[in-house]
Amino acid sequence: MPELPEVETIRGELAARIVGRAFVAPPLVLDPRLVQRLFVQEFSQALLGQEISGISRRGKYLLFHLSGSLTLIAHLKMTGALLLSAAPFTSLRHLRAVFFLGGGLELRFSDPRRFGAVWLVLDPAEVLGGLGPEPLEPGFTPGVLGERLRGRKAPIKAVLLNQGVIAGLGNIYADEALFRASLAPWRAAGSLTAPETAALHGAVRATLAEALAGGGTSFSDYLRPDGSRGGFASCLQAHRREGQPCYRCGAAIARLGLRGRSAYYCPRCQGMPGGDGNG
Ligand SMILES: [Zn+2]
Repeated sequence: MPELPEVETIRGELAARIVGRAFVAPPLVLDPRLVQRLFVQEFSQALLGQEISGISRRGKYLLFHLSGSLTLIAHLKMTGALLLSAAPFTSLRHLRAVFFLGGGLELRFSDPRRFGAVWLVLDPAEVLGGLGPEPLEPGFTPGVLGERLRGRKAPIKAVLLNQGVIAGLGNIYADEALFRASLAPWRAAGSLTAPETAALHGAVRATLAEALAGGGTSFSDYLRPDGSRGGFASCLQAHRREGQPCYRCGAAIARLGLRGRSAYYCPRCQGMPGGDGNG
């Protein structure tokens, strides 16, 4: 699933190509379930003629600010991609919508698993209201993180995935941040000490910033708007490295089922489940 670094990469690359362009024809919506809260015809009519004045990101959501007072919001969920018409296509089967922009550009929403969604709203807070702070913003301090973890008994890995606690982290970067901070993923979030919280805060920010610099992580589904892949997968230290040696200590990276997701961790650096270690 695209997380903050992937969505931010997409945002920047789309902004360079399509800001200032208008929706010059009604979109071709091949899967009506893509469009949330509006009938496809209302959605298409409202979009027609609107110019994209800017593109921003909040958590894993992309916001296309339009010349009227509306905002088009997109969430790629598991396998969504927003591809510009020059990008090569593997399968038309996975196309859910095509948006026709000025200058002959097409913006194509491809999504094999079809969990992605779009909204057209007057007030983005209708969709984004419940999101926690942006981890790369200056206002996100160790103190803010500590407040958001306080009293929580759920495993820290699960809490990092909760978009209401912090916006933008998913399975990949939660594993990577916990590895970097040498924290066991099953620790109760509220049990972190102030130095551990500060270490986690620094690890979250450093992990996201490095992944962003690498253009995000591609396993199979995440694609940039030109169809190319992110370059960060080879930089991952824990996520999907089960059985491979820890870059720090040489122990084999392990995998644990945690609240229905996999957590990858180093048993020597981060602790053993049920043992004291650091866990
Ligand atoms: Zn290790």
